[in-house]
Amino acid sequence: MFAIEELRLREWKPRSQLRTSSTDVPTPAIECIDIHNHLGRWLSEDGGWSVADVPGLLAMLDERHVETVVNLDGMAGAELEANLDRLDRAHPGRFVTFCQLDWSLLASPDAVHALLAQLEDCARRGARGVKVWKNLGLSYRDASGALVPADDSRVVEVLGRAGELGLPVLIHSADPIAFFEPLDAYNERLDELAGQPDWWFGDRERYPRFEDVMDAHARLVLACPGTTFVGAHVGGCAEDLERVARLLTAAPNYHVDIAGRMAELGRQPRHAAAFVTRFADRVLFGTDIYPASDEQYRLHYRFLESADEAFDYAPDAEIPPQGRWTVSGLALPSDVLTKVYRDNARTVLGLG
Ligand SMILES: [Zn+2]
Repeated sequence: MFAIEELRLREWKPRSQLRTSSTDVPTPAIECIDIHNHLGRWLSEDGGWSVADVPGLLAMLDERHVETVVNLDGMAGAELEANLDRLDRAHPGRFVTFCQLDWSLLASPDAVHALLAQLEDCARRGARGVKVWKNLGLSYRDASGALVPADDSRVVEVLGRAGELGLPVLIHSADPIAFFEPLDAYNERLDELAGQPDWWFGDRERYPRFEDVMDAHARLVLACPGTTFVGAHVGGCAEDLERVARLLTAAPNYHVDIAGRMAELGRQPRHAAAFVTRFADRVLFGTDIYPASDEQYRLHYRFLESADEAFDYAPDAEIPPQGRWTVSGLALPSDVLTKVYRDNARTVLGLG
């Protein structure tokens, strides 16, 4: 016999009984550019390529009308060369690879010189932008042992130079607000954090506050007006779109991608649609879904274009990983979709 008092939270997997329409959106309103994806080896557990079969990937991208994918995994040196050989050089126009700098160099005595040398080497080799990951501002320390915030003068000098070299900077700062909150019965991302304890930054002895990370992110963008920035994951703050709106308003060099934030945007679909429409020239389509998949592109098109209500943002998961809720479509108008899917990315990437 089922005893409800013995049911554990992680075993509770309610199935929605809502009967509603589902719109199939197999291709986007216009050929799109995925500004945020991972096609390298950096994030794979076995050291292999994220997608082993490049011709198979291209066939899927053709079917889903994805014109270009930005690969954020170029790293530097020989790894950058390997990514460029396999993607950008083998399939011109279809892939654009960004480099990543080794910010652990901040702990060396001549950090700025070393980072600038690496940046310039990456540019020479053919990197088309710079990806900065969240550990800058959360964990990298300098030679004195002090945490280096994103707006540190050494970082400003390096990323200011990226602008002079014509390289846009896609920067992931912070993480969902709940990751900085106490890990307790009130935490809205408890399911996810239980499986990924490394993602919890609520220990104030070790990590800065969410607000401080976001403030440093904003000051960095404002300190480098000649550098084009893309704030990954809706600028790291999809739960507070008005904070993102303030930086977009203050900094004409700032843009955001929507990668990995369907769950956050889709639980506030009217506010999110108004935000994207208001900043239609500065919001970029990206998925952060790796390995890139046919189903996920379709789901993203449905999310941006349809007015479907209360659907799963992670249809394969028994428990929604980014919070126990569903999403509703943004039903964006076609002029906004054209900019978000393609035109803004072409501008940021300097594509014709
Ligand atoms: Zn990513």
